[in-house]
Amino acid sequence: CGIVGYVGSQSALDVVLAGLKRLEYRGYDSAGVAVPADGGLAAAKKAGKLLNLEKELVGRPLPSGSTGIGHTRWATHGGPTDVNAHPHLDNAGRVAVVHNGIIENFAALRAELTERGHELASETDTEVVAHLLAEEYSSCDDLAESMRLVCRRLEGAFTLVAVHADAPDVVVGARRNSPLVVGVGEGEAFLASDVAAFIDHTRSAIELGQDQVVELRRDGVTVTTFDGRPAEVRSYHVDWDASA
Ligand code: GLU
Repeated sequence: CGIVGYVGSQSALDVVLAGLKRLEYRGYDSAGVAVPADGGLAAAKKAGKLLNLEKELVGRPLPSGSTGIGHTRWATHGGPTDVNAHPHLDNAGRVAVVHNGIIENFAALRAELTERGHELASETDTEVVAHLLAEEYSSCDDLAESMRLVCRRLEGAFTLVAVHADAPDVVVGARRNSPLVVGVGEGEAFLASDVAAFIDHTRSAIELGQDQVVELRRDGVTVTTFDGRPAEVRSYHVDWDASA
């Protein structure tokens, strides 16, 4: 129900958790985070309030990194359990994805992945995306391109945000029929389902258009269509009272 992504020089975990807190008003049943760090990918997720996730992180701290993603879930496919909470990872644990919305053709994709030897752990419609991204990444080594290829195969409504252990300075997002906003700071960038998640850091925003993919790096953002063509972006200043 809420999504936050960050790349910059601050502690990604702090930025992401604060952003998720800002989105709490939307309601949710579980929460999770993922941080590519030390050559791997660390994730934590927990049913219930953000406080449950924060307690989990105290007991089992993640390595610190300056790239990260986070999610608060409103379950549509699979009950509100720890396993069904986002992020979802591929079998090698190299890619993590969070999702808002519903992937209508997940059952067919799941059957296809299972046939190719993937083991899916959750009951969500989301998890197929992690496995598909891992497959695409293994042949193109480019997370944004992998996202474009996967999105072209998805039906339904989705905001997707992903990170990969092999591209620890990159966050990739995509959207169809579901909102996603980019925040552009000095040497840092944000992704969120709502500007509320990052207005403490920047007021410079880009609204992602329908069927677009964005690649976030510290030094800038690149927006393309699902077909890989450069996309026209709508930049604006968030003129909004942060205390509201
Ligand atoms: N359909 C996904 C799930 O049930 C995402 C739900 C959401 O938008 O939070 O896990």
